[in-house]
Amino acid sequence: MFRDPRAQIVRKESWHDYHLLALRSPLVARRSQPGQFLMVRASGQPYPLLRRPFSIHGREKDVLEIFFAEVGIGTAILAEKKDR
Ligand SMILES: Cc1cc2nc3c(=O)[nH]c(=O)nc-3n(C[C@H](O)[C@H](O)[C@H](O)COP(=O)(O)OP(=O)(O)OC[C@H]3O[C@@H](n4cnc5c(N)ncnc54)[C@H](O)[C@@H]3O)c2cc1C
Repeated sequence: MFRDPRAQIVRKESWHDYHLLALRSPLVARRSQPGQFLMVRASGQPYPLLRRPFSIHGREKDVLEIFFAEVGIGTAILAEKKDR
């Protein structure tokens, strides 16, 4: 397991309640394999405490993609994130 608190959102696309986030994380991307998933911390605040699991939708070099539906508090917070 690898943890990367410096992962950055580099691209975001949205279609109604569905969102794609591209995250730059050389540490995690270079070690990830098909079928694996990421545990994503939605907020730097104590709530929501638990990380949310998301399948790896795509990977290119140092960038990983997740694709998710907005269903609850964690995905609502992620859906509000801006890319850099
Ligand atoms: C291995 C794995 C991989 C996954 N990969 C993906 C993926 O690639 N893409 C994806 O979209 N999802 C994926 N999921 C599911 C994803 O993790 C969940 O959608 C996410 O955890 C929901 O988090 P949340 O904080 O938005 O929802 P939560 O707030 O935790 O809510 C979860 C569910 O409970 C309901 N709920 C919340 N509060 C209440 C309440 N008070 N009363 C009644 N119901 C309530 C919500 O409507 C929702 O249906 C994956 C799950 C697993 C286990």
